Amino acid sequence: MKQVAISACLLGCNCRYDAKENFNEKLLQSLKDYELVPFCPEDHCFGTPRPTMDLVKQTDKIVAISNENQKNLSIPIQRYAQDFFEQHPNIELFIGKDRSPSCGVESAKVYDVNKNLLHTQGTGLMAEIALEFGIECWDAEVYVHYVNN
Ligand code: SF4
Repeated sequence: MKQVAISACLLGCNCRYDAKENFNEKLLQSLKDYELVPFCPEDHCFGTPRPTMDLVKQTDKIVAISNENQKNLSIPIQRYAQDFFEQHPNIELFIGKDRSPSCGVESAKVYDVNKNLLHTQGTGLMAEIALEFGIECWDAEVYVHYVNN
């Protein structure tokens, strides 16, 4: 059965920064023939609830910066993602929560270092690594729209 990596909050896990979820029934219906492999890099690395973070474009790269203390939180998320995809080599599809700085595929806000919004098509840090592994990646809302139209 085809394995799909999916943001755990989309399955109803209360792992968002505010300890809520993003359950998406239409999405689950469209994936009913697949084996779902949930992940949540932020819960794993920082616990729940937790302060929010945003993607910030520095000179040569995009990093995740804590909105609480301005620390760069990128490395633990990238390590989690690397380990996850190494441990699940048969993942064929990645479905990430739209707009998340970790899981969004083409929908995360990206700011400059002065916190001015640059654009809203950023790729979250875990989605970025999924793409590096050659996995087909979709934002959840875009995927639901695609399979239902
Ligand atoms: S969007 Fe990603 S990091 Fe955020 S709660 Fe959902 S699975 Fe966790």
